[in-house]
Amino acid sequence: MTILEKILKKKKFSKQDIIYLLSLFRKDEQDILLSYSRSIKESTVGKKVYFRGLIEYSNICVKNCYYCGIRLGNKLQERYTMPDEEVLECAKFAYEQNYGSIVIQSGERSNIRFVKKIEHLLKEMKKLSDNKLGITLSLGEQSAETYRRWFEAGAHRYLLRIETSGRELYSKYHPSNELHSYDNRVEALALIKSIGYQLGTGVMIGLPGQSIENLSNDLLFIKQLDADMVGMGPYIENEHTPMYKDKGILISKKERFDLSLRMIAVLRLMMPDINIAAATAMQTLDPVGREKAINAGANIIMPNLTPVKYRESYQLYDGKPCMDEDASKCTGCLIGRIKSTGSDIGLGEWGDSKHFIKRLKTGK
Ligand code: SAH
Ligand code: SF4
Repeated sequence: MTILEKILKKKKFSKQDIIYLLSLFRKDEQDILLSYSRSIKESTVGKKVYFRGLIEYSNICVKNCYYCGIRLGNKLQERYTMPDEEVLECAKFAYEQNYGSIVIQSGERSNIRFVKKIEHLLKEMKKLSDNKLGITLSLGEQSAETYRRWFEAGAHRYLLRIETSGRELYSKYHPSNELHSYDNRVEALALIKSIGYQLGTGVMIGLPGQSIENLSNDLLFIKQLDADMVGMGPYIENEHTPMYKDKGILISKKERFDLSLRMIAVLRLMMPDINIAAATAMQTLDPVGREKAINAGANIIMPNLTPVKYRESYQLYDGKPCMDEDASKCTGCLIGRIKSTGSDIGLGEWGDSKHFIKRLKTGK
């Protein structure tokens, strides 16, 4: 038996095992890992891929993360917030197309006007869909009171990436002030969970100065956190950010892509019953990147519903795909793409994380 086969047979991976799996560079070995992960996915959460229609609500952000194109400090960026009618139209579209769920994502803001606006939109979305649309929020760090308010208004999943689980690395990619505190981020994750949301987190892969050991710590962090859903994908530089200067020390895009596939596969083996998203950034690096992510163990896809006129302004990183394709075209294209992977599509279903359902039953 090869070392790889021996590791794959284990019930629990040590850190060394994770490092070994993330370091596989031979295509034949990587393929063994990916197809094993896919088989574990299918026997645990099934063959269905669920949709989460993505609404990029606003690019106004009070933060200054060094990697992100819509950071406050990027003065070249024009700013927008979608009017209520447009947001609700997107939600209606998702409902009518039988997507099952949507995600509202935005730059971070926590003023009371913003909090109330989101609360209002949540209630309206629930109303227009007869309470049927599942809603995930990805609106950054907020107070317990805000998380609670939004939960009561109808959101039931919350996605907040830890970005990188190492305290030192975190401070390398963020300004050192209260607004970008590592401890606050970790605390926010605990708060989200305690309020009753399905908790989502994730990391960026291939950041400058990030090692395989760092990434193995990230996977152990996610496991320890007992997350219900994970969205992780390659870091892609944006030329209007401070981190662009580190472009020269990055691993190649191909390596970042393959490493992201291995991260998905290893995480699926470590946490077989969670939901894992095929991040849009995967498609930026490979035209069939999301399909490959599904084949490696992902089971969630996030079709972009943001009206085309705003997409140029929501460029977290360079080269985001489908910049000029409207949502109706995306649906047909995506269904074909997913079917090509041999998966089924969970249309009209929430597709909640099985891990969460189990967590609810055991009261953890
Ligand atoms: N403001 C919210 C949500 C919007 S940003 C938040 O920060 O949580 C959503 C995600 O985009 C971030 O969590 C980050 O992981 C990702 N992102 C930002 N810049 C990126 C880049 N240059 N490459 C890849 N992902 C990036
Ligand atoms: Fe703002 Fe999120 Fe970008 Fe950070 S990653 S600058 S919080 S939008």
